[in-house]
Amino acid sequence: GLPALGVDVGGTKVAGGVVAPDGTVLGTARRSTPTASVAEAEAAIAGVVEELAVWHGGPLVAVGVGAAGWFDRTGDVVLFSPHLAWRHTSLRRDLAARLQRPLWVGNDADAAAWAEYRFGAAQGAELALCITLGTGIGGGIVAGGRLQRGAHGVAGEWGHMRVVPDGRLCACGNRGCWEQYASGSALATTAREVATRSPAAAARLLDRVDGDASRLTGEDVARAAADGDPVALNLVSDVGEWLGQGIADLTTVLDPDVVVIGGGVSVLGDMVLDPARERLARALPGRGFRPGPRVVAAALGAQAGLVGAADLARAAVCEGRGST
Ligand code: BGC
Ligand code: ZN
Repeated sequence: GLPALGVDVGGTKVAGGVVAPDGTVLGTARRSTPTASVAEAEAAIAGVVEELAVWHGGPLVAVGVGAAGWFDRTGDVVLFSPHLAWRHTSLRRDLAARLQRPLWVGNDADAAAWAEYRFGAAQGAELALCITLGTGIGGGIVAGGRLQRGAHGVAGEWGHMRVVPDGRLCACGNRGCWEQYASGSALATTAREVATRSPAAAARLLDRVDGDASRLTGEDVARAAADGDPVALNLVSDVGEWLGQGIADLTTVLDPDVVVIGGGVSVLGDMVLDPARERLARALPGRGFRPGPRVVAAALGAQAGLVGAADLARAAVCEGRGST
């Protein structure tokens, strides 16, 4: 079969890839996400698609775009996006007009969940939850072999569960959302707080940004943790604990057999997953008397979103649902 093209549009970057039918990524391209304007975000998506199409040279069966937005049931309209400018935006129509190719569009974390179910860590699961940790927290649910999108298309938006009353302000407009405590940007927010309050303790982090705490990113913290900086390791393990508590809550509601952790932060692997597993074991209601889920890193790593978008596009075309 022919490859498909998948694009993952997050709050920080637009990452695309040419993907073989078995999920292998043949080539990738990326640029940063223009978050303030609909037209610029669409242009960046189209730019990544064209760049990859030229690189690939041959025919492509379809294009899939998994984007950090809340899609309606039909997939035509992005109702809302915390991190991008989409507000009732006809993303599918706009992209179809630009790309002139068979197209699937949907939520980025749904695409990642699908990829992990098809090719990765959730294969064979009865009920799999995928939690993506990037700029925000994304969610995808695969049950009985199907993506579950809810009555209106917006299921699995657990990044916006309130975990702290009157907590940190979230991009969605509420306060205390889970993604303010357990995402890549949570890592950055806490690191800036620590570095501002206690520059001496955070000296190694500050070295990475010429002493300017406001420039610290989640990736800086991740790299510092990987280098063994104890302050960074602490921040990462905090994120892991918030993650584990959220998984306990989700498990109470949905009883999954596997919870797959994807997104940029998941490259930290057990540094973030071990504290999450420990917290889950201590927080799950009925612990010791009931089974809980396996908590595993995404087998496709940060590429899960683009792989899933490509596969969903391929499936849509095969089922005659791909629109041009
Ligand atoms: C959005 C999700 C998205 C996630 C990851 C969240 O803030 O609500 O729709 O999947 O960020 O990009
Ligand atoms: Zn929120």
